[in-house]
Amino acid sequence: MRYAVLSDIHGNLEALRAVLVACETEVDGVLCLGDIVGYGADPVACLELIAERGAVLVAGNHEHGVAGHLDLEWFNPVARTAVAWTATQLGTDHRGYIGALPLTAGLAGATLVHASPLHPDEWSYLFSAQDGLGAFAGFEGRLCFVGHSHRPGHWSVGSSGPRYRAGASPILLEAGRRYIINVGSVGQPRDRDPRACFAIWDIAARSITMRRVAYDVQATRQKILRAGLPRLLADRLRVGA
Ligand code: ZN
Repeated sequence: MRYAVLSDIHGNLEALRAVLVACETEVDGVLCLGDIVGYGADPVACLELIAERGAVLVAGNHEHGVAGHLDLEWFNPVARTAVAWTATQLGTDHRGYIGALPLTAGLAGATLVHASPLHPDEWSYLFSAQDGLGAFAGFEGRLCFVGHSHRPGHWSVGSSGPRYRAGASPILLEAGRRYIINVGSVGQPRDRDPRACFAIWDIAARSITMRRVAYDVQATRQKILRAGLPRLLADRLRVGA
């Protein structure tokens, strides 16, 4: 089985469609690590597309904000504006749907979680080598997929010592090592590469390949501006930061 692992779509329909087209002949299913909504102008369309295509989904902090599970004070002012706007776009059914998504899920021995496997409801960011290496106690098994920071990278632990590598490098899973993989962000990359980022997990080949896909950033920017969302949310997509 091969899965596309997507995170942090953030209402960016152009990026989501480009990713689904790019991987459709390569994968058997789609996994989603949350933050389907928030920041972008197409929360409903992204939610419906992922609800239809996604084999396994978990909630992100933006789903929890929109569903009323997470106080808006938790968010920075720009994110708070986007969460409040997104809540006005979603009907009761959609809000109920995202509010009921689980915080973690398991598939073929892997754990799926938005932020950190250690206390998923605290929405901690795994940025540094130390952040990730300290999170291995939060899950069992060999593999955990995360998002949330919008920056691809991976951490691993095993008999040859701990390792951390930032960036979208290919990963061959070694026997006896445990891994946390950050799959980056589909809809709002923050690693200075504006292309949509996601991972392809090939279970039989024991490999994870990070992929980048260009999409129509200008169309997404215009929708964000037309919706009256903060300009920063449109402009950061151009540079991927
Ligand atoms: Zn996010």
